[in-house]
This record gives sequence, C-alpha cells and structure tokens, in this order.
Amino acid sequence: MPKRLGEGSDNPDGRTITRVVEHEADSRRAGIPLGRLLGFPVHLSLSWLVLAVLVTILYGEPGAYAWGAVFVLGLLVSVLLHELGHAVASRRLGTGVKGITLEFLGGYTEMERDAPRPRVEAAVSLAGPGASLLVALVAGAGAAALPDDGTVTRLLVHLAVSNAIIAVFNALPGLPLDGGRALHALVWAVTGDRHRGQRIAGVAGIVLAVVVAGAAAWLLVADHLSLVGAGFTFVVAGSIGLGGGTAVRLAAQDARLRRLAVDRLTRPIFGVPSGTSVAEAHRRGGEGAVFGVVDPDGRLWAVVPEAEDATVPVDRRESVEIDALARLVGDYPSVDSHLTGDDVLKAVEADPVGDYLVTAGEDVVGILRASDIEGERVPLTRRSGT
Ligand SMILES: [Zn+2]
Repeated sequence: MPKRLGEGSDNPDGRTITRVVEHEADSRRAGIPLGRLLGFPVHLSLSWLVLAVLVTILYGEPGAYAWGAVFVLGLLVSVLLHELGHAVASRRLGTGVKGITLEFLGGYTEMERDAPRPRVEAAVSLAGPGASLLVALVAGAGAAALPDDGTVTRLLVHLAVSNAIIAVFNALPGLPLDGGRALHALVWAVTGDRHRGQRIAGVAGIVLAVVVAGAAAWLLVADHLSLVGAGFTFVVAGSIGLGGGTAVRLAAQDARLRRLAVDRLTRPIFGVPSGTSVAEAHRRGGEGAVFGVVDPDGRLWAVVPEAEDATVPVDRRESVEIDALARLVGDYPSVDSHLTGDDVLKAVEADPVGDYLVTAGEDVVGILRASDIEGERVPLTRRSGT
C-alpha cells in the first residue's frame, strides 16, 4: 500500500493481533511463506524460531527435547486455529483478509479494510477466542474419551489447555487483545463514536497491563511464581500496556484528524490598495495579518505569501511597497473551504508548508497556511488507506 501524507500502517483497526503473549506487531510481512490455508496466505515470522530455541533450552535435556518440540508445535497449531477463526469471520463479513502471520508466541491476521460497523468489529474479534475455545473443548473431550494416559492423550490435554489459555487471555477486555476490540465495538455501538471506543478500550488495556504486572509481582513475592514465570508475565504486561497506549494515541490522532477543517484554519486576507508600504499595511492590518493587494474596484489580485512578508526588515518597511512582495492570485494553488479531515491533508500534499488560496465557489475567502495544520497535531504519517 503506497504511503501518502496522513497515512500509516499501524492502525489497530483492520487487524486482530492474537497472542498467547500479546505484543505490538508491525505489519511488515517478514517471514517464511507457508502457503495457503483455506485460501488465506500464511507466513511464519522468523521470531518464531526464537521461541523454538528458547523452549528447547528450557526443556534442557535430550529426553525432554521431543516434548519441547511438541509443546512449540502445539502452540503454533493453536495460534493458527485461532487466527483462522478471525480470518474466516472476516472473509464472511466482508472485511477481507490480507494474510495470517504466525510469530513469537502469537500471531496476527491482517484485514483488508476496517470494520464498517461495531457488530462486524465485535464478531471478527471474538471469532478468534471462539475458535480457541472450540478447539479446547474438542481436544478436552477427545482426551476424556481415550481410555489410557498415553502420548495421544497427553497431546490432546496439552492442546486443550493451551487453547483454553489462548481463548481466555485474548478475551480480556483491553486493547490490543481481542476482548479489547470487542469492548471497542461495544462502546462504539453505544456511543456511535468509533474513536471514543478505541480510546476507552486502549485505556482498559493499560489498566489490564498494570493489573497483570501487579498480580505477577504479588505471586512472585508470595513464592507462587518463579522468577522466569514472573519475568515472562512482565513482558506480556508490558506489551499489552504499550499496545493499549498506542491505541489511545491513534484514537486521539484520528479524532483530531476528523475535526480538521479548512474553513476553521482559513486566515482572512487584509486587502490594501496597490502602492501601500509594508509599514502602512502592518499599521492597518496588524502584525499577524495576511495581506492582499486590491485594485481600485476592491478586487483582490495578489496576496503576500507568509515567507515573503518575513523577509522585509522592520527598518525597510516604510520604503517597500506591498506589491513587491505579493504573488498573483492565479499563481496560488487553491483549496475548497469545505474540505475536512483526510481530504485536507490530501489537498496540501504537494506542498505541506506552502500557502493555499481558500475558495468557496468563485470567491476567495482567505489563505490556508499549510504550516497551520501542524498546530492541529493531526497524524501526518498515518491513516489507513483502505
Ligand atoms: Zn485473536
């Protein structure tokens, strides 16, 4: 997807990140293509190999390596089934699927477009934990049905437990977890405000992270959790907190972008007759004014660009005529005064620091200084382009 001004790739909408451990994932599709499953392209991130090595080390002795490998593969299959839940739901509900990536202790499914309605958002995000729960139940039932305590039974029990953990963990109500997306959808449905939903769910993610980290610290002190287990949990909590924080930040940026409007940023043009000195213009219009040159009929024919006005030293203002600084009206690019949001960014893309003539129909209503947009703190480097 080509990037343009106001566009970006880390929109938490449009993607479910699913984890045993949830962490911030970027959408660079780095990894080994594993082919297609049910029509979805599946990639294996190289970070997954880190997990394989870590688990092997943890299992430590030759006899246990095999179980380590089974554990890792079981986890991989569990995450894949979880992602398939998201992917199938997304395809059925019309938001499309770019692909599934499996990586270190988790994975994510990238959608082709944002959910148009809260209901779709909720359904796609809950389909993952739903799939995990289903796998856990089926594997658990299988284990219970088998008569002995053999290898297959142990495998099924392992699969049931890991899927149950994945289902419950990801259903926790805070972004970037699936449950956080569902909470986002719920707030969106109730308030009609998509960004507020994202902000609240992001804050919930941060709170969740603090609770998880606090619980781990308490269990560690009470000797119910090993140092490795606690460290692992802190990493999980940290990644949830970061993801929640990102969601809050992006929601705020989106909200500001939505409020962006040309007519609100338009500076009026203070017209002075041809031949007026710069000093006189400043006396009449004030220091911050945008000066225009008008003909005897009052028609505006030239405007002083911001940069030009600043080039005249104060002691030379009496001798320089405003005409010398002005640029013909026809030489300015123009923007429509009714533009809002993303369209404003698109309109000033060619020159993000220049001056633009603001027009309403045939009329010139003022000047838009593209540099003023920066003051609105809108996200100049993001925005889903789908
Ligand atoms: Zn998920």
